[in-house]
Amino acid sequence: MMARSSAAEALRDAVEAQELLTVVESFEESNVEAAHSALPFEKARELECLGLRWKGNVLVVGAPEERWFEVEDFADSIGQQIELVATTPAEIKEALSLTATLQKVEKTSIDVSRIEVGEAPISNLIQQIIERSVLERASDLHFETYAEHVVVRARVDGRLRDLVKLPARLAPAISSRIKVLAQMNIVERRRPQDGQFSTTVGDRQVDVRASSVATVHGEKIVLRLHDARKPNVDLGSLGMGEDQLVTFSKMINASNGLILVAGPTGSGKTTTLHSALQAVATSEKNVITIEDPVEYVVPGINQIPVLDGANSGFAVQLRAVLRQDPDIILVGETRDAETARISVQAALTGHLVFTSIHATDSVGALYRLLQMDIESHLIASAIRGVVSQRLIRMNCRFCSEGYKATAQELVTLEHYGFKAKTLIRGVGCTMCGGSGYRDRIAAYQILNITEELAELIVKHPEPNEFRRKALESNMTTMDHEGVRLAVEGITTLDEALTLMVNNND
Ligand SMILES: [Zn+2]
Repeated sequence: MMARSSAAEALRDAVEAQELLTVVESFEESNVEAAHSALPFEKARELECLGLRWKGNVLVVGAPEERWFEVEDFADSIGQQIELVATTPAEIKEALSLTATLQKVEKTSIDVSRIEVGEAPISNLIQQIIERSVLERASDLHFETYAEHVVVRARVDGRLRDLVKLPARLAPAISSRIKVLAQMNIVERRRPQDGQFSTTVGDRQVDVRASSVATVHGEKIVLRLHDARKPNVDLGSLGMGEDQLVTFSKMINASNGLILVAGPTGSGKTTTLHSALQAVATSEKNVITIEDPVEYVVPGINQIPVLDGANSGFAVQLRAVLRQDPDIILVGETRDAETARISVQAALTGHLVFTSIHATDSVGALYRLLQMDIESHLIASAIRGVVSQRLIRMNCRFCSEGYKATAQELVTLEHYGFKAKTLIRGVGCTMCGGSGYRDRIAAYQILNITEELAELIVKHPEPNEFRRKALESNMTTMDHEGVRLAVEGITTLDEALTLMVNNND
């Protein structure tokens, strides 16, 4: 399959791949100072515990509470002072399988003679990089070709981090291997392509969508890693404040109307929409979704994928769905005026319609709808509310520590109307790859359409005038919500303030 001229060349690649695997392994250390390997691996697995970080001579150890006595006994027996942090068995299992993957990488990198000619080293390398990324909770994996190197980067919690650098000479073999997996054309190296494949990591299935584009130095390949397990997120843990939650629950429990969810790609709209559906779907209701693609399969809900390449696919499907006696409809995305018009009509004729729309904030989303040539009085009567959102990183709960807010931070807190004097931040541990952050949560702006605001929509005022009225009425800003999450210890103030910078994107 691969363009290799001789066994000698293949062997040279194999040796090189071994060196690379060592690089993958050594990348691990950095700032968690090998806390994860401070306890013998077999013992750690037996006791379901894991070294998280060093606090001077004290090893901070994560373990399920029911294991604490045993872990303490063991620590005593080897003379190691420890401090315990509560974890679930599942979290430990996951972190330990990451450690196991790293050990496997280490072992593979010793025995060069075992490597057979051809594709084996490269496929091993790619599989290990994918495994490692999945265990580190990455959503995307980038293979970027430059003059000297192929740089492999992973996106974790929305940020890219370097994973490993490979010699540029291996680029064609890497892209060929991925193309074979994803059933793409391996000869074609100029035109953009996409494809997909599935792989298993531990006991879970991971769906991978691959895409390639030609850059000046060669191909860039991006793998989107999608864990098919549905995130079980109830409305209460999405990130909404108490008042927002009450407002949002009222909105989605209405018997009819239109609810918009806005935000850029990757802002968590799908999770919000699915959580809302889960909250209102009962066996007495016919719930139908139209999605592109169907990301999570939910029992009891009729999910329709939009067909590839179909013009205004959403509109076509939506018309069909309206003949299917629906109560609640989720239109994955409103991209065009036709889909918007049918959604508004459906909302006005007794259906509850959820949809997402690309816009910067809630008022922006409302105005996108108004710009789609739908009469403003129809929108005013159909719309119940608009939600917009952004994801921010959460403090890692395994290494969070309180600290006294700086003078600068106190000024910021006061500006947003908070009196907090202490804040919380993650200091970095095994569970968060040393970053201090683990997982993400949404900051929301919720625009509840009151009677007064509905009357204002009919008049179609300037967006800024509408925004002012909405803020007077009940709407908060997203950065305010971010700061609230920081005050509650869920994120850092720095992370919250990125929402302000992002306000104009
Ligand atoms: Zn941590």
